[in-house]
Amino acid sequence: MKDILNFINGEFVATSKQFEKRTPVDDSLIGMVHEAGQDEVNAAVAAARAALEGPWGKMTVQERTEILNKVADEITRRFDEFLEAECADTGKPKSLASHIDIPRGAANFKIFADVIKNAPTEFFEMATPDGKGAINYAVRRPVGVVGVVCPWNLPLLLMTWKVGPALACGNTVVVKPSEETPQTATLLGEVMNACGVPKGVYNVVHGFGPQSAGEFLTTHQGVNAITFTGETRTGAAIMKAAAEGARPVSLEMGGKNPAIVFADCDIDVAIEATLRSCFANCGQVCLGTERVYVERSIFDAFVARLKEGAEKLKLGVPSDSNTNMGPLVSQEHRNKVLSYYKKAVEEGATVVTGGGIPEMSAELAQGAWVQPTIWTGLDDNATVVREEIFGPCTTVMPFDSEEEVVRRANNTHYGLAASVYTQNINRAHRVAAQLEVGLVWVNSWFLRDLRTPFGGSKQSGIGREGGVHSLEFYTELKNVCIKL
Ligand code: NAD
Repeated sequence: MKDILNFINGEFVATSKQFEKRTPVDDSLIGMVHEAGQDEVNAAVAAARAALEGPWGKMTVQERTEILNKVADEITRRFDEFLEAECADTGKPKSLASHIDIPRGAANFKIFADVIKNAPTEFFEMATPDGKGAINYAVRRPVGVVGVVCPWNLPLLLMTWKVGPALACGNTVVVKPSEETPQTATLLGEVMNACGVPKGVYNVVHGFGPQSAGEFLTTHQGVNAITFTGETRTGAAIMKAAAEGARPVSLEMGGKNPAIVFADCDIDVAIEATLRSCFANCGQVCLGTERVYVERSIFDAFVARLKEGAEKLKLGVPSDSNTNMGPLVSQEHRNKVLSYYKKAVEEGATVVTGGGIPEMSAELAQGAWVQPTIWTGLDDNATVVREEIFGPCTTVMPFDSEEEVVRRANNTHYGLAASVYTQNINRAHRVAAQLEVGLVWVNSWFLRDLRTPFGGSKQSGIGREGGVHSLEFYTELKNVCIKL
């Protein structure tokens, strides 16, 4: 059993208050997490401030980005350790984490090192009454100490998606990983030390939200900006905390993402992508589909094929290369998901497949397993059609016209992502333009070019990250005006 420690000013820090980390695969205890209190958070923020004013702040972009490239290489060199830790914490299949979570975790350092080296700023010449003129140019400066609050569904990937650009831009960070998935953030501390990242640039404080490390960090006035991924409700609490001191926030929050399947689609493409978008990572992907609208003429055929695909998914342990689906992240989350399974039936759903707890072998029986589940027979007002569940489940509903389906897809306070399946290119553009979301995929799902803007509209988020868009948050743009 491991001690999972905080990482403050380049040192691994134990505390007297600890909580258990159990793996959702079989509920066995894998480690004790050392919870940071106010003192540890204060120390982490002070270390981050000192590094900002010291070695890190004084480095050239070239020096900084060379170090970040080393960090990416070192993650890749220790790939198996990161993979092991991530799969133990989350229960996700190694086949998934080895081609998404860990490689993207490394890539996030390289891509933002490249972005910052290549991002130009503006230059304007202006006329002045004396005829001599003036010039203006903009320079980017770090925002300072950034508080990074992370969820559990893609722990390393989503954390480095923030830490990569924050560090590339010359900031220092204090990271609060999810209490469910503490290991890879601590492991990254070892990588930072090995690569010569100065002490205090990267800090990790473990704990929970309210009255714990999350709240201590986000209310700390030494933190200049806060970037958060997680539930919309938590984002609102963080925004309130950030109001004190008028500090900027970047919020990536929940979704209730629709897929729209037109009769003129390539059905093989639509089925393959919809199976992934509903069930990958056991449905615990912010971009995942929980509402599928299918044009009536192909509704029955589509449901039959989706059912067939869902029933072929193999639930199992992370190390089994045949596993397509792991457990949910925790017993607590399973209780939440199962309460929605119950609610769907109470509100009149037809359970096409799943709907409960699968039979697992005796040694896995204590794990947080649930069946992949498909419902039909519900209308747009049903609870499971309105609320984010974050499990391997979806409602499939028929529609008759383009205008109707766009209205229904937009009928939510969320606005993260949508998928549209059609072979009619005019329709694809027309529908994409009308969807009130931050990301639209046409004939695919989760195809990500990391240079593109990522984020949600409505209550799914504030701000965009990715490529140069991350610079908007992680730097302050300063204009210098020179009178000639
Ligand atoms: P969560 O909001 O429960 O927790 C996220 C983090 O916030 C955790 O580290 C938690 O400890 C911390 N936290 C909780 N309350 C806090 C408070 N009052 N102050 C400071 N910190 C606090 O989210 P989760 O359950 O870990 O993640 C699942 C959610 O994340 C889903 O809603 C999902 O849609 C969303 N998500 C969104 C994106 C995106 O890019 N939009 C990506 C992944 C996940």
